[in-house]
Amino acid sequence: MGMPPLASGPHGPDTLRPLLDTVLDALRTGAAARRGPLPAGGPRAVAARVSEAAGDILPERGAPEALRALVTALAEGAADPAHPLCAAHLHGAPLAVATAADLAASVLNPSLDSWDQAPAASALEALVTRTLARETGAADALVTTGGTESNQLAVLLAREAQGANVRLVHGAGVHHSVPRAAWLLGLPEPVTVPAPAGTLDPASLDEALTRIPGPHLVVATAGTTDAGLIDPLPEIAGRCAAHGARLHVDAAYGAGLLFSDRHRPRLAGLEAAHTVTLDLHKLGWQPIAAGLLTVKDPGDLHALHHRAEYLNPDDDTDAGLPDLLGRSPRTSRRPDILKIAVTLKTLGRSGLGTLVDTVCALAEEFAAHVHDHPGFELHAPPTISTVLFRPAHATDDAVAAVRRTLLTTGAAVLGRARTDGRLWLKATLLNPHTRPDDLAALLTLVETALEGPTPR
Ligand SMILES: *Cc1c(COP(=O)(O)O)cnc(C)c1O
Repeated sequence: MGMPPLASGPHGPDTLRPLLDTVLDALRTGAAARRGPLPAGGPRAVAARVSEAAGDILPERGAPEALRALVTALAEGAADPAHPLCAAHLHGAPLAVATAADLAASVLNPSLDSWDQAPAASALEALVTRTLARETGAADALVTTGGTESNQLAVLLAREAQGANVRLVHGAGVHHSVPRAAWLLGLPEPVTVPAPAGTLDPASLDEALTRIPGPHLVVATAGTTDAGLIDPLPEIAGRCAAHGARLHVDAAYGAGLLFSDRHRPRLAGLEAAHTVTLDLHKLGWQPIAAGLLTVKDPGDLHALHHRAEYLNPDDDTDAGLPDLLGRSPRTSRRPDILKIAVTLKTLGRSGLGTLVDTVCALAEEFAAHVHDHPGFELHAPPTISTVLFRPAHATDDAVAAVRRTLLTTGAAVLGRARTDGRLWLKATLLNPHTRPDDLAALLTLVETALEGPTPR
């Protein structure tokens, strides 16, 4: 083998085309071998198959078949969110057009830490982030790797604006990355406000803000990870304003509702937040990573300003080269904005809104079906596209075991959530191609798994 070819440059496209054929063939072969949403056999069997396909992963002499072999193995052993019975997490199948755009991002490989590595990508990022910021009533937005990094940045900006003694106050349903961000940034132990109905209770919030010395950063959630619940944002914003508290809304899941004319009003109050987390690899159908943090006061972003002589020297900035280093705590940074921009423009607001409406309607249909089924109990009507349910009269241990049986046989991928003192199965519906019949089949699978292995 001579020097291996590069993805870009004049011969890049011609070199890539046959390799893409190999990748697409391997994806098809691997998926067909799997025959379901998840590989059968559990972790040991999957690890054995991967190990066999990988062989010596760093051989003395290279193996040209590696691309086909490893992509096939990964596809065969994948949890496929495009399969209607794969519905555990906020883990969706990316849109084809977004994935194609992401290939271009890999080929061009712009790095968004300096203009001379990403001239057009940085201009596109500036344009798209401003547009998405406006959707939440903010002035600007940073691109992140997802909800976790967005929440960390929100807490960091609060610390820089309010001081290192800022106290986080959040509801019981908050995402685990929020208290973790407080730990990471050396802040005082956060205060958890009760969420009796699953959402942050404004009266208890008021009581906490009165009792506990500030400064405060209140974190509300629009779309809890466990149940898809939306905190009462207007009431929370009102209490924050009355107490001079800063407000961050974690809308990693719920922000997708902004694209839907029907569901957008449920995010009223979002525009009052100082910062908002968006995660377009959830209700935005992007390949991971596609996070954003919108920021109401662009002055808050000065805290991230950072100088490195080789990336953003003052004289370059004075001469008009955009200063990108302060747009992220990362240095090298992928142009995740390209797939997002392509998606927004290809589908438009109505196309994205239809996707959102479709999965929300699917959740309602599934919930109605669970409700009418004598063998199952529904936790509550869905708020977004998450449905919590459990087999009637089953113990928590039986519910946990059913989920693992479905995982290890590869029949279905369901999540779990503990709420109201009981364990529930969780279906997070993000696949707009799923049909109500698929979900009826899901209930049958759960019933069968609950009865245990059928005697032959
Ligand atoms: C998924 C989620 C996160 C974390 O996002 P990642 O992209 O996984 O880092 C944060 N908050 C909420 C509410 C989420 O649902």
